[in-house]
Amino acid sequence: MSEAEKSLNFIEHIIEDDLSSGFPKDKLRFRFPPEPNGYLHIGHASSICLNFGLGLRYNSPVNLRFDDTNPAKEEQEYVDAIKRDVDWLGFSWDSEVYASDYFQQLYDWAVKLIKDGKAYVDSQSAEQIAEQKGTPTEDGQNSPFRDRSIEENLTLFSDMKEGKFKEGEHVLRAKIDMTSSNMLMRDPLMYRILHKAHHRTNTDWCIYPMYDWTHGESDYLEQVSHSFCTLEFAMHRELYDWFLDQVVVKTKVRPKQREFARRNFSHTVVSKRKLLQLVEEDVVTGWDDPRMPTISGLRRKGYTATAIRNFANTIGIAKRENVVDVSLLEFSIREDLNKIAPRVMAVLNPIKLVITNYPDGEEEWLDAENNPGDETAGYRTVPFSRELYIEKEDFREQANKKFFRLKLGGEVRLKNGYIVKAESCTKDEDGNITEIQCTYDPKSKSGSGTEESLRKVKGTLHWVSIKHAIPSEVRLYDRLFNDETPDHHKDKDFMEFVNPDSLKVITGFVEPSLKTAKVEDIFQFQRIGYFNIDKDSSADNLVFNKTVGLRDTWAKLQQK
Ligand code: ATP
Ligand code: MG
Repeated sequence: MSEAEKSLNFIEHIIEDDLSSGFPKDKLRFRFPPEPNGYLHIGHASSICLNFGLGLRYNSPVNLRFDDTNPAKEEQEYVDAIKRDVDWLGFSWDSEVYASDYFQQLYDWAVKLIKDGKAYVDSQSAEQIAEQKGTPTEDGQNSPFRDRSIEENLTLFSDMKEGKFKEGEHVLRAKIDMTSSNMLMRDPLMYRILHKAHHRTNTDWCIYPMYDWTHGESDYLEQVSHSFCTLEFAMHRELYDWFLDQVVVKTKVRPKQREFARRNFSHTVVSKRKLLQLVEEDVVTGWDDPRMPTISGLRRKGYTATAIRNFANTIGIAKRENVVDVSLLEFSIREDLNKIAPRVMAVLNPIKLVITNYPDGEEEWLDAENNPGDETAGYRTVPFSRELYIEKEDFREQANKKFFRLKLGGEVRLKNGYIVKAESCTKDEDGNITEIQCTYDPKSKSGSGTEESLRKVKGTLHWVSIKHAIPSEVRLYDRLFNDETPDHHKDKDFMEFVNPDSLKVITGFVEPSLKTAKVEDIFQFQRIGYFNIDKDSSADNLVFNKTVGLRDTWAKLQQK
């Protein structure tokens, strides 16, 4: 096997095999087929990267197909959100298409099936139909309506379409085999009556085609060559093929369904139904709440499209289901942001530090590198003055040698600034430290080239000048669920595992250069993590989301 071949996943092998058996490369065509019944989530990213990735690899068109056959759950809002997300992820579709575009064609084909004696109107209730279904080890029974005449079927089906019946009065079923070992082949439903307006076809239709009847025929109409879906559809493949058999003509491409494993992720759920429940029950503020595993939630939280694509490509496509640890996703975003995020200083848990030998009322603007890893990122200036904030946890009255931060009698460098020495501290009645008094070495300014400036001290702390800092709202997020696999418990509902402390809002103090930052701008708060500007920000109230910490503290906590 060549190197190039080794890197192929099993899906690409399927395509390569077809190409070597003579399938024309220019006939390759793919699709990504979301149902517009919710926002896209990180699981969809796998399917998007797979299908659009194949498009790029083979230079083939990829359609964005909305699988909109259930007006009870689908909405234009979801269509818009899905388009926005696929586009934001960096992919372009060939055609924007809808299963509902094919309602007339599907209807005409259903009439053909009736005429061919391969479909019939069943007038039993859903319960009766279910009772006759049998079990995997027991044959099903034929419906008493199975042998209706073609004429009667045609009239009834047409009357169903004309709205002459109530919901549930009749269905159209394919006439296949009630004794098939594949339960899905036991006369599956093709149409049901739904008196509901559709977001695109409005009230034109009151019968709607079922998924199985729609999906393969849509693939065929679009001349999709390879139709990839998740494993739960493996058993549906036989039916997909049976429906195609009824309509395919030899001169056209016959689509091929193949399956890959659905992705699950730790500490979250990826099912639109469950995500909708979180939204409807106000567990989160909306589909784009930064705690949601949706593409829009991740984007709002500061994730980049690059990081999500890299993540999807790293976990790849699998044949078997498993749970992917979300810390892998966090690794991806850290890796990307480390390259691109400008560094700034912010103090989230402040304690006052006074430099007693720094002249009162004086200030100076120090040069600060925007990104030490990127020469082109340039410099900004940060104000320094007598009164600063540092992080509370960066100071201790006494500490052992391993504490490289500030302690009484010890020295640290203030990032981009001077070396300071802690001389004393003040406490309140309860013994809490309220202020640290330091002296500074005026000759030790970073980058000034003096001997003192080159002196090595063990610790470097970030800080902000109190007078100049902007108090800001900072939203800190934790896992949305306390359990690794919240929806894999037989006896417990996933909602029982919602983490009540998934959001903590604090006031942080950020350097003044952030005044001009815009929504979605992302920064590294030095020594803390990555933060972006939330859309709730206004000119006089900056709101930051924590994207991810600098290190994987979660994994460390779990090892304890
Ligand atoms: P949900 O349960 O979230 O509604 P779905 O499969 O019904 O999922 P669709 O909108 O039908 O959602 O999905 C569009 C495509 O994305 C399908 O091909 C589907 O198989 C794929 N997909 C959905 N969820 C995942 C996942 N967790 N991992 C991989 N692919 C997924
Ligand atoms: Mg679905």
